[in-house]
This record gives sequence, C-alpha cells and structure tokens, in this order.
Amino acid sequence: MIIILKKNTSEEQVHLLRQSLTQKGIKLHESEGEQTHIIGLIGDTKSLDMDSLRAHPAVEDVRRVSEPYKKANRTFHPTDSIVDCSGILVGGGNFAVMAGPCSVECEEQITEVARAVKQSGASILRGGAFKPRTSPYSFQGLRADGLDLLRYARKQTGQPIVTEIMNTEHLELFEDVDVIQVGARNMQNFELLKELGKIDKPILLKRGLCATLEEFVMSAEYIMAGGNEKVILCERGIRTFETSMRNTLDISAVPMLKKMSHLPVIIDPSHAAGISWMVEPLAMAAIAAGADGLMIEVHNDPAHALSDGAQSLTPTAFDQLMQKVKSLLPIFDKTLN
Ligand code: PEP
Ligand code: MN
Repeated sequence: MIIILKKNTSEEQVHLLRQSLTQKGIKLHESEGEQTHIIGLIGDTKSLDMDSLRAHPAVEDVRRVSEPYKKANRTFHPTDSIVDCSGILVGGGNFAVMAGPCSVECEEQITEVARAVKQSGASILRGGAFKPRTSPYSFQGLRADGLDLLRYARKQTGQPIVTEIMNTEHLELFEDVDVIQVGARNMQNFELLKELGKIDKPILLKRGLCATLEEFVMSAEYIMAGGNEKVILCERGIRTFETSMRNTLDISAVPMLKKMSHLPVIIDPSHAAGISWMVEPLAMAAIAAGADGLMIEVHNDPAHALSDGAQSLTPTAFDQLMQKVKSLLPIFDKTLN
C-alpha cells in the first residue's frame, strides 16, 4: 500500500501519521521528490482501513499495490487447489458435474432425476431444499424435509449432494451434507461466510448478481480466513443491460479468477441463461475457458417444475450434453470425476 501525501502538509501532521502507522507494526519506506512525497507501507496492511487513512489531514490518496486477499491469492499459492467433495475431486485437472433439480419437490422426482444424472455421468447431485425466491408467494422449498429427500437419493445412487444454506441457524441441519452452497444472494452475507469458515466442509460459493471479481474472491477469503480453505467458486451470470437472457454469463471470469486465485472455478450455465436451449453452448464455452466443473439444473418434467423450469434440461437433453462434455474434456486436459 502506498500513501501519497498532500503538498504543503505540515511536518507535524506527517509525524503523527508515521507514528500511527508504526504503532500498528507497519514499516515505512519514504520517497520524497520535488513534486510528490510518498510513503510505502511494508508489512501486513490488510487490516488497515483505506478510508480512514484517506481522511487523515496529511493524506492526498491511498493506493493498494497488492491485493487485499491473501489466502485465496494465486501469488502465495501458485498451484491449483483441489477440493475433495466426499471423494469427487474438483480443480487441478479434475472436472466435476453437479446436476439435479432447482428444487427438491418429492421423493419420486429427486430419485428419478438422481438416477438419470448419475447414469449420464454427473458426479454430484444438486437440489435446493431452502430456496431463495424473489417472491415470498413462490415455492420456498421443502426445507428440512427436502434435505431428508436428498439424503435418501444419495443412499440410492451413492452420489455426494450439494445444497444451499441461507441461514446460520440451519447449520446443524447441514451436518452431513457433502457440499454446502452459498447462493448468489448471500455471497456477501458475511456472518454466514464467517460461520462456514469454522467448519471443515467444501463450500460452493456463487458469485453475487452484481459482484466484481475482487468482491467475489474477498467473500471466499472470509471463509478461508476462518480456517476452511475448501472453497469452490461458481460464476452463474451477472446483471447487465441485456434483457434477452436471465443473466449474462461472464465467461471472462474463468481465466481472470484463475489468475487471481488458486481456487477451483465452476460455471452454472442454467442460472446464467435462464433458457434451457442455451445451457449446452454455454457449458461448452465454460470448458473451453478453463472451468473446473459445471452446475446444471435437470428436471424430469420441466413444464411442471416448482422453480426454474424454463432453464431445466430434461434427463435426455442432459445426457446429450454429457456426451459432448466427455468428448471435449480431454482436449483441455481435464478428467471427469
Ligand atoms: C440455485 O442454484 O438454485 C440458485 C438459487 O442459484 P443462484 O444463487 O445462483 O441464483
Ligand atoms: Mn434454480
């Protein structure tokens, strides 16, 4: 971090600024030219508040020269992280497909979809039990009963399960869930992220609808700072001015996130597009961009789905997509888990 001092600031003010920084254990490296006086800060600056530094009377501007995320940063961990999801590896050449319905609706639906997606080669079963819906009048999910049905489906097929948590109070219910999903709407629910940092379980963190990549990685940092380094990032489309699709898949996020961080990055083309016929081309683009996995919504009867039917693939369409996934992965040095 560097501090640019105001011209004509008094030596007393600069002295007070130096004192307040060194008291925090920061070492200073100053360079004074004809026009500018700069103080370089050396040491652990991540807890310094840039806004309060800017408010200091001697300070013209403050700039970061290194990223505020440390644990998630590729610089300090050059190799890809591999996250073990109950035996299914994600990252570092390991590709995983998480598939299943938007919402768990009943025993017949979840077991039928679970069997079908497993048959087609999906690695992990997805299904929402606690649903974040825009309208309070829409189906809110089967909640704890939905989790029971996911456990039942897991028993039938042997696939690990991934499902969304919305509230720290529900953590106990998620004790035997294989991967906990944090949805886009909760990406910056910092209290939830902090609690998830205390457990030893993979977290699938979805990017917020309007989050920058730095904000996204900082949310992963929240979880990692607590001690849980098993984080998978998921790009699921962002809000743009385009209205012909539900969201806009930010495909550039894949290479950029991989440059910023060592964490695995997966793509959810279903929520990005909001339209089932777009899921396959976006999934192909995700593989070509270097993604470590996909999350795809599949329903045995999309027309009657209780949520997100328009973007859900039928088991047949999912099977066709998986054939293409399997043929594409070796070209990009990835192995399907
Ligand atoms: C979901 O995966 O069902 C979901 C609600 O996703 P998102 O948080 O990305 O909208
Ligand atoms: Mn959904």
